[in-house]
Amino acid sequence: MVNNLLKFLDEEIAQLKEQNLYRELFVLQTPQTPTCIINGKKVINLSSNNYLGFTFNETIKKKALELTEKYGVGTAAVRTIIGTMDIHQQLEEQIARFKNTESALVLQSGFTTNVAVVQSFLTSEEDFLISDELNHASIIDGARLCKAKRRIYKHKNMMDLEDCLREAKRINSRRIMVVTDGVFSMDGDIAPLPQIVNLCEKYGAILMVDDAHSSGVLGKNGKGTVNHFGLDGRVHIQIGTLSKAIGAMGGYVASTKKVRDYLIHKARPFLFSSSHPPAVIGACIAAFEILEKEPQIIDKLWENTKFFKNSLQQLGFNTGESETPITPIIVGSSELAMKMSDLLFDEGVFVQGIVYPTVPKGKERLRTIVTALHSKEELKFALDKFNKVGKKLDIIK
Ligand SMILES: *Cc1c(COP(=O)(O)O)cnc(C)c1O
Repeated sequence: MVNNLLKFLDEEIAQLKEQNLYRELFVLQTPQTPTCIINGKKVINLSSNNYLGFTFNETIKKKALELTEKYGVGTAAVRTIIGTMDIHQQLEEQIARFKNTESALVLQSGFTTNVAVVQSFLTSEEDFLISDELNHASIIDGARLCKAKRRIYKHKNMMDLEDCLREAKRINSRRIMVVTDGVFSMDGDIAPLPQIVNLCEKYGAILMVDDAHSSGVLGKNGKGTVNHFGLDGRVHIQIGTLSKAIGAMGGYVASTKKVRDYLIHKARPFLFSSSHPPAVIGACIAAFEILEKEPQIIDKLWENTKFFKNSLQQLGFNTGESETPITPIIVGSSELAMKMSDLLFDEGVFVQGIVYPTVPKGKERLRTIVTALHSKEELKFALDKFNKVGKKLDIIK
């Protein structure tokens, strides 16, 4: 019987429940708005990556509909067969302009983009990959799929990074690649890119920066961490997502024309998975236009970020090293994180608990993300509830 063969799942799931790691999916019944309805309850939403409110922006929706009318709902082909429409190329040119790079290539998601680049750049055991210990799961999976030797350096630790680079040189590696998130997705801190760039230049390493959480957030017009640090032209490969601040779905590589040419021939997700539907491309085109023409929306995001982060710190919460709209509240156990999340939900505030294996044991947390569209009233309401629940659980005095 099918059921007997799948019996091991009962034990696996029972184990998850024992460890407080089991969860049901929450269901959103409205757009991804600052106040929304989740599981039938009206709540303030502090868990989306909808930094600029682009998921329900009227101009963006209109463009998605317009391109659906004009081009249909799908492409029914991979990019390399006949899944490249003129609008895909238009978006890529727009992204390259936005990132101040020669060229850009769009893939299905940020996740597949990281996997694609790491896997297709490091193809031999003579290659060497060096990665920050808190890099995103998709970079880790890319590393697992590539043939290179691998070293993980301690989070943002430049001495450790230099040790790894020395080691890569010592064994005469063919290609050395350093990979880092621009903004770290669970802690909201920023990579020390100026130092990383210097080290990469000193040791002749390719540098790849994953700006999933910084595009639309940091730098001029939200161009990301590379621009934020004034390092345009000194980072070989910039990765971005179209699924967070941009509000739709997808990922991209911004780099040279040669990198684009190479990936078109070698990147497996690009070669073997169909291309974006016109609606998504339309949404992205409109979103980048807004960033180019009306970047003031980003100021509002930072105003909300400062207010909310300062207030949480004043209440006595441990917000770790956060420097961006991602503000963790570290509570230190999965039980406490889940409990706090549940109590906040009852009070009308939605914040997901983040537990092992997404974050290390002992660093369990609630992760808050404010958006440009949250009103002061909504943020004050949420802070009031954080205060109440934090005291009840003895997390703050
Ligand atoms: C979210 C995220 C990704 C994945 O992007 P998707 O477009 O959602 O697949 C990759 N890298 C980092 C750092 C992220 O935070």
